[in-house]
Amino acid sequence: MATSNSRLTGKVAIITGGARGIGEAAVRLFVENGAMVVIADILDEEGKKLAEEMGAHTCAFHHCDVAVESDIEALVAFTVSKWGKLDILYNNAGITCIGQGEDVLNMDMDKFDRIMSTNLRGMALGVKHAAKAMVNAGTRGVIICTGSTTSVMAGMAPVAYTVSKHAILGLVRAAASDLGKYGIRVNCVSPAPVTTPLLLEHFRHASGNQNVSMEDARAWCDSFSNLKGHSLTPLDVAMSALYLASDDSSFVSGLNLIVDGGFTITSHIFE
Ligand code: NAD
Repeated sequence: MATSNSRLTGKVAIITGGARGIGEAAVRLFVENGAMVVIADILDEEGKKLAEEMGAHTCAFHHCDVAVESDIEALVAFTVSKWGKLDILYNNAGITCIGQGEDVLNMDMDKFDRIMSTNLRGMALGVKHAAKAMVNAGTRGVIICTGSTTSVMAGMAPVAYTVSKHAILGLVRAAASDLGKYGIRVNCVSPAPVTTPLLLEHFRHASGNQNVSMEDARAWCDSFSNLKGHSLTPLDVAMSALYLASDDSSFVSGLNLIVDGGFTITSHIFE
């Protein structure tokens, strides 16, 4: 896929969950577009390896559990001390909830709390501390949170995941409303199922078959698209995040950008 390569020249970005999956695609794309990127993740080995591959002048890894407030504060401080500012936070880290129970009758509330802690509290902490740094520095920054098609519909994932992703829309709208006066834009990118390690884990659990391949998973993902002839990739999602991170979307705030090939608006899929 052809991409312009100068959309983020001189910008400093944090990408949470950047060690693999959609986050990794975003790290590569943001660096390719001229940004300095901090990968924030709990996967130290993968994160360090990717940062090394990108090059020390444009990329660094910082261990961070997004659910821990002191980790997020340290992450923002690290970024500002390394590159002098923070322009973009891409709140991408998220987990699914294998064995959480597929419906409300079977919810395991400890697992429910764990999902909320990463998927919702983690993103709220990112919004809070990135926005503080931007406001203090007078930076007209950008914050992107990660929803999902499960942000707007139920029945596709275990309840806790669906609830957490619906709540992200509230977080994005509240933050966009509060931060507009500082020139800070806040948006959401909401992908359909896309082949990543997280998806594979979910798919293996849902199908009860630990041996399913990435190809099987891709075919399953394709069934959640109305746009035939193209399988959704992590790069497609990262491209939408790039749009929201760049000046191409300079008057866009509070948006939920659904990247689903028209799936959620196509009722015949459910017939
Ligand atoms: P992934 O599991 O492949 O990657 C997620 C990354 O987040 C991993 O590197 C993981 O180590 C990191 N992470 C998890 N918990 C963390 C924590 N507490 N602190 C810091 N990092 C943490 O998943 P992915 O599919 O690339 O998902 C990325 C985002 O996209 C998630 O928010 C997910 O909910 C969302 N999403 C994914 C899909 C999909 O089908 N893959 C669809 C819709 C939305």
